[in-house]
Amino acid sequence: MIGSWNALPALARASQELAANTPLLDAVVRGISLVEDDPDEMSVGFGGLPNEDCVVELDAAVMDGLTHRSGAVAGLRSVRHAARLALEVMRRTDHALLVGDGALKFARLLGFPEENLLTDRARKAWLNWKANLSDRDAWVTPDQAASSFGTARWAGRAGPEMLAPDAPPPKVPFTYGTIHVSALDAAGNLASCTSTSGLSYKIAGRVGDSPVVGAGLYTDNAVGSAGATGRGESVLQVCGAHTIVARMEAGDSPTDACLVTLKKIADRTRLPHLRDDQGRPTFNVTLYALRKDGLFGAASMHEGYEFAVLEHGMPRAQAAAFLFPRSRDA
Ligand code: ASP
Repeated sequence: MIGSWNALPALARASQELAANTPLLDAVVRGISLVEDDPDEMSVGFGGLPNEDCVVELDAAVMDGLTHRSGAVAGLRSVRHAARLALEVMRRTDHALLVGDGALKFARLLGFPEENLLTDRARKAWLNWKANLSDRDAWVTPDQAASSFGTARWAGRAGPEMLAPDAPPPKVPFTYGTIHVSALDAAGNLASCTSTSGLSYKIAGRVGDSPVVGAGLYTDNAVGSAGATGRGESVLQVCGAHTIVARMEAGDSPTDACLVTLKKIADRTRLPHLRDDQGRPTFNVTLYALRKDGLFGAASMHEGYEFAVLEHGMPRAQAAAFLFPRSRDA
């Protein structure tokens, strides 16, 4: 099994489940549920960072290599186990993706508990984001209000009407984060799952790559399994996970398949605000690939990322390959 860096506990749990004869995809989903339960993991499930309206919206998908079936939910509110619900979509319906109110209604019908997914920590992160987002609205941080509201903070600052027409938009500290697992069992079957609260402070209803088959995950028993984390828009726009599996089918190693896909993303990133002064993407994407013979790899857009591996029952972190080295003079 392989996964995103935050999947180590999921891999350990999934491996225990497999040892107890739980079917592969169920074992993976139970592993991921563990991370969805963790309030300190702010990119997945309960405690995930909310959207711009301060509401947590989850996306998740599963794919089964043996049957080539998938299930997914997107924009799911009030239900923490998005991955388990995606598995139910696959098992109990003839559909591949349920969104928003429809996904919630489906969860209710199956008896999934409903709750407020917003933890205090995530709510405070949202408040901080909101207060620092713009000096052109009424939100300020308590510090700003106490020390300088009406004086230094505003003195000398250009009001909106004084801003140069080409002034850059305020920097938005978006946070990415997702859990992905791809797994291979002793019988040679493959399965995958990706679950996320998505891009922090996203516009309500925004869906990234995670619940989209072929983007945030793709599994084909004949070839291998792949997944993605990081800037979902970029992964969607190159059909990331499907591209990786197609490259492995054409003969690339798992690591090369990830690197080629990252290169494709980098080459097609044309918007100036997404490129640095050397033309490299300013965001990260990490891709994961597991071939049907057990060979695996992962690669990130930028140097310095790890992924999770479970071999012979032991979970460990391993450095991901990368497309762009960290600049040494930084
Ligand atoms: N890919 C996820 C999304 O765009 C976020 C992430 O993996 O960081 O929703």
